[in-house]
Amino acid sequence: MLEFSLTPATSPRPESERAQILSSPGFGKHFTDHMVTVTWTPADGWHDAQVKPYGPIQLDPSAAVLHYAQEIFEGMKAYRHADGSIWAFRPDQNAARFQRSARRLALPELPAEDFLEAVRSLVSADADWVPEPSGGEASLYLRPFMFASEAFLGVRPAAEITFCVIASPAGPYFAGGVKPVRIWLSSEYTRSAPGGTGAAKCGGNYAASLAAQVEAIERGCDQVCFLDAVERKWVEELGGMNLYFVQDDGTVVTPELTGTILEGVTRDSILTLLDDAGHKVDERRISIDEWREGAASGRIREVFACGTAAVVTPVGLLAEPDGETVIGGGETGPVTASVRAALLDLQYGRSADDRGWMHRL
Ligand code: PMP
Repeated sequence: MLEFSLTPATSPRPESERAQILSSPGFGKHFTDHMVTVTWTPADGWHDAQVKPYGPIQLDPSAAVLHYAQEIFEGMKAYRHADGSIWAFRPDQNAARFQRSARRLALPELPAEDFLEAVRSLVSADADWVPEPSGGEASLYLRPFMFASEAFLGVRPAAEITFCVIASPAGPYFAGGVKPVRIWLSSEYTRSAPGGTGAAKCGGNYAASLAAQVEAIERGCDQVCFLDAVERKWVEELGGMNLYFVQDDGTVVTPELTGTILEGVTRDSILTLLDDAGHKVDERRISIDEWREGAASGRIREVFACGTAAVVTPVGLLAEPDGETVIGGGETGPVTASVRAALLDLQYGRSADDRGWMHRL
């Protein structure tokens, strides 16, 4: 297992500045005093594991990642509980997904124990940056990532890889708070094709989603919904969240895993939480017609999106080039609200962690 050396920041942010940032952190704007870096080469494997002052990374202009996008990342959070302790939610799932993403991008796999130790080491160096639970939904967002740092323009898996973890205090993801979001249905662009990288968390997927995101913003929407790339018929997911549909008979449907959508940790956890709450849960294909017609007829009562950053977010409207469909009167439905509360209660240590999902950092 890797051992991380610690070089403390010589000029960490003054406490008053940190307090000001933590009082209104936004999302992904401010970073903590330290970062993790680990290097991989074929000869030495993973080595030189460090926690060091946060700062720019020097990269050769020919570094492969800048040309061929051989890069993956993860997104997870550290939550402070009322007794001051700091916890991660199912970080083993992020470690496993990071390994799956690595395989798909021909990157070396980081052992799960090293992934977890990297996260733990950074959070312990920057513990003061984990917001107090009294701050509502505040947390410390953790961003592990890995990229091809080898200086070489040949198209092949790079022979030098850098793994990093950075951390950013986070308030609620959507600036407007928990109010139903508007979703733009992308009819022109898809994000993922069979055999492609849709199930991997690689930067290229997000780059490819931005043109659709621009369309969404132009139409006053918050996020994009993508359909499958073959029939352009089946609902896959949003640019950064999975989707759930609550039917009038209490059954809750989520698109099945097809290899083209990201296997969200939140999605997987909600399958269990809904089952606990007595709902029938169906993982199956759901067509855009079923969504549109179901929302119009009342057969679909609620739609919500889920992911680490935004937790659970109600979807109030589906916008398309030739019309709009309001869902559940544009209000937050009861199932959405209760799943959201159940997940947050668990993450912030306000309910019993029967399944051992919380991991003390
Ligand atoms: N889909 C996509 C495309 C995402 O980027 C994310 C965020 N990681 C999710 C779904 C939700 O995944 P998770 O619940 O693990 O955050």
